[in-house]
Amino acid sequence: MESNFDDFKELAEYIKLASYFFEKEKNRKNLRISTHLILDFYKSVLSNVGSRIQEKNLETKTIAQKFLLIRINIPKFEEQEDLIKEIEGFRNKIYHNDFWVPDVQKLRKLIDHATGFLNFTVTCLQESSERGKRIRKLKDKVKDEIYNMKFYIGLNESVGYRIELEEFVSKEKRLNELDLASLQDKNLQSMLALIEIDVRRLKGMYDKAWITCPKCNGKIVQKSHSSTNYAGPYDDPEPVSTTYFETVECEKCGFRLVDEQETIYI
Ligand SMILES: [Zn+2]
Repeated sequence: MESNFDDFKELAEYIKLASYFFEKEKNRKNLRISTHLILDFYKSVLSNVGSRIQEKNLETKTIAQKFLLIRINIPKFEEQEDLIKEIEGFRNKIYHNDFWVPDVQKLRKLIDHATGFLNFTVTCLQESSERGKRIRKLKDKVKDEIYNMKFYIGLNESVGYRIELEEFVSKEKRLNELDLASLQDKNLQSMLALIEIDVRRLKGMYDKAWITCPKCNGKIVQKSHSSTNYAGPYDDPEPVSTTYFETVECEKCGFRLVDEQETIYI
């Protein structure tokens, strides 16, 4: 959503013009011109808001349709329902009856409400754009934490925490399938808190695995090994290659956390 509301200032010109014709001699012609202008004002505001929200042109939609689309996205807009009904009524009469003269009191009310309506609309849009920014920030944080979760799952898997990880792996899968766009900021906030707890737990598991053996709590050490491979006849074998191992393993039970092999052919 754009943060520039300058085009709304231009719309305020309609209000001035509608007032001007209203204040002039209150004959049928002037009152009808004033009505057209104030209706154009309301229609333009609704089109503008609707287009910003839906990101497409809403010019062809009726006032009621525009209002409905806006209300779905900005629930606060419901406050304007009575005013919108008045406008709809005025519109139907003036477009269908060339001799209809608007009620002076009612027209006065529509003109008087216009500035308030404009300010209300701009405030609603600003709030909804700030809310959008907040949600985007939250969504990024959630995505980051899902990434961290995946990262620690991978590390823990490499140190042999497979069984304990099942719970996290299925959670991570569900989180990845989740449509973040459909979530409200409140839900995103509580979800973020829960994922953060999981990430801390996963990190704790990993830190612990590096200090002690996950199988027997024995001491973890780094070791180098090598073995020579032979080929040729049984009674006269010849060395063909040597495999070097670099391991990180339990001193007590031999459980390997890391097993790096390199084979060098002679
Ligand atoms: Zn061990």
